[in-house]
Amino acid sequence: MNGIRERLDALLASSDSAARRARDPVDYVHRYEDDRDREVAGLVGSALAFGNATAARQSIERALALLGPSPARTVATVEGPGLERRLTGFVHRIYRGEHLASVLARAGLLLREHGSIGNAFAAHHRATDGDFRESLARLADELRGGATDRATRHLISDPRAGSACKRLVLYARWMIRPADGVDLGLWPVPPSQLVIPVDTHVHRISRNLGLTRRRTASWATAEEITAELRKLDPADPVKYDFALCHLGVSRECPSRPDRDKCARCVLQDVCSVWTGSRRRASAKKASELRL
Ligand code: SF4
Repeated sequence: MNGIRERLDALLASSDSAARRARDPVDYVHRYEDDRDREVAGLVGSALAFGNATAARQSIERALALLGPSPARTVATVEGPGLERRLTGFVHRIYRGEHLASVLARAGLLLREHGSIGNAFAAHHRATDGDFRESLARLADELRGGATDRATRHLISDPRAGSACKRLVLYARWMIRPADGVDLGLWPVPPSQLVIPVDTHVHRISRNLGLTRRRTASWATAEEITAELRKLDPADPVKYDFALCHLGVSRECPSRPDRDKCARCVLQDVCSVWTGSRRRASAKKASELRL
């Protein structure tokens, strides 16, 4: 992990998180003052953060508009059929209004029973002796109810099934990491427990940095990357996630290596793409000199 903390800290320091937040689904959560509204907006925003980014933002905006000025009051007081009527006509990829309504009706139940979704999650966390994956799986069970349809099961994925469950884990990051202008620190669970949300950008850059060698974005990959990051900051291992993700989203680190962008990148000293290309270039120069 030679030099990696220093480079990742440099990435954090150089990232314009306010500008990046404005293009991120978490921005919708910050539009609300009330913590319960923020929880429900976060559930909607993270669940719909799937597919084309612009289309996802439009869908989040629309779904939240349909829930009215206080999404938490709406889901806690309007019964399932009423929620379904409110969301009639809503479509995002394979999800329709009825899928989102069924999840939100269950979120409303959690609000009524526990006072907040965070309290429900914290109860699972205590009951499982701090098993983050199982706690999240139990929360997912509650949000899906007995739904067997593909769309609802995809909308809220099951961490036990082996995938990285990026959107559900992202929701937990928003709610648990300390408030820093991006994340909100609402749930009573220590951020040391979090697992990194692994999307295509975080997976690729993590491989470049040697945080994992795994080729698929699975739960095991997310745990492996988190274990490496935990060595850098045991109390807050996923604090670099937002900056790493947006390095890819912004195409400052594109999926095809770009020499000019790498030459400007603060991670270059610890990135195998850059160090590998420098090594190859020096070897070529040495072999030309020998000829
Ligand atoms: S050095 Fe290049 S490949 Fe590596 S993280 Fe930076 S931009 Fe991406």
